Amino acid sequence: MHEFSICQSVLEQVEQMTRRHHARRATRIILSVGPLSGVVDTLLQRAFDVLRLGSVAETAVLDIHTPAVVVACPSCKKESRVPTNRLVCPNCQQWQTTLVSGDELMLLRIEFAANTLSVNSHSVENEHV
Ligand SMILES: [Zn+2]
Repeated sequence: MHEFSICQSVLEQVEQMTRRHHARRATRIILSVGPLSGVVDTLLQRAFDVLRLGSVAETAVLDIHTPAVVVACPSCKKESRVPTNRLVCPNCQQWQTTLVSGDELMLLRIEFAANTLSVNSHSVENEHV
């Protein structure tokens, strides 16, 4: 499945970024998945649920944002939000529009766990005393 390979490359990036930030693990991954990207967000979520196991994102939350579909019109020079299935300029009905956004697949943000683990393990030890 197409979504699995996409998710795999996202997790590789997350893994790299986590190492670069000297963090232990990622807690939140925010993706922007355009309605015209060809990626089904529910399948991406399912792929993530499988692939995150054993990775730095094992306990991370995946947030998928859906950006609006925007086209630029060569005739009236306007940029407009349009429905996914109708990429026509709503201003002048020109159909030879250029897609400005809507087909992107982007890693917007990764959040990392703070390094507070030593504090936590200390309080656990106290409970056993
Ligand atoms: Zn137009």
